[in-house]
Amino acid sequence: MIVAIDGPAGSGKSTIAALAAKRFGMRKLDTGAMYRSVALCALDEGIDLDDTDALAELAHRMEIAFPPSDGENVRITVNGKDVSNEIRTPRVDAAVSRVAAVPGVRSGMVAQQRRFAENHDVVAEGRDIGTVVFPHADVKVFLTADPAERARRRVLQRHGDHLPDAKALEAEIAETKAQIEARDAYDSNRAEAPLKAAEDAHLIDSSSQTIDEVLDAIAALVQSVQKDA
Ligand code: C5P
Repeated sequence: MIVAIDGPAGSGKSTIAALAAKRFGMRKLDTGAMYRSVALCALDEGIDLDDTDALAELAHRMEIAFPPSDGENVRITVNGKDVSNEIRTPRVDAAVSRVAAVPGVRSGMVAQQRRFAENHDVVAEGRDIGTVVFPHADVKVFLTADPAERARRRVLQRHGDHLPDAKALEAEIAETKAQIEARDAYDSNRAEAPLKAAEDAHLIDSSSQTIDEVLDAIAALVQSVQKDA
């Protein structure tokens, strides 16, 4: 069984995919974390981000693994080293879309993603899961939310219980919204596997829905597939 969840940055894919995987007893595959790992290694190795051959070579020699984790945030290792925290830093945020636009990087990652699904039932989340990686996924969801709401959620999540004052918070939300929109525009307009909904994807707008409501909607889709099987 493959459940594909695609959508723009901050739409809640990661949270929803983690909870859905738990509910259905499946493994979560966070493909954004994989592209982030490639960007991190490229930065650490000093690879020029315009050098597409070097980036492709890097992607094909990276051994990415997902050790079991209870938390919502995925744990990820590259050649045995845990990079779970480092891939979430601003320097990786700023580089990842350029790296992910390189066709040779994508072919390396897509091969690993397909191998992962050979051994597990998966809830896979990303940008091109329903269109390119698993075009025959059993359930396809395209999860969106209003950009201002996505930025707000990202910033609140970043600060946890220690929120800055209201003015600083608003400024950070505005800056985050601009960054999210720039990344989405880049991801949507690239030539290779752009961010877009598959024709047979179910569109879910989570702007005014709770996590449980979104999860129930996806559970209903999964159950209807299981009933037909
Ligand atoms: O989902 P996340 O925000 O971690 O993804 C980081 C970046 O990785 C995206 O902005 C996109 O450039 C790239 N990505 C991709 N294809 C995927 C998943 C992520 O190109 N399937």
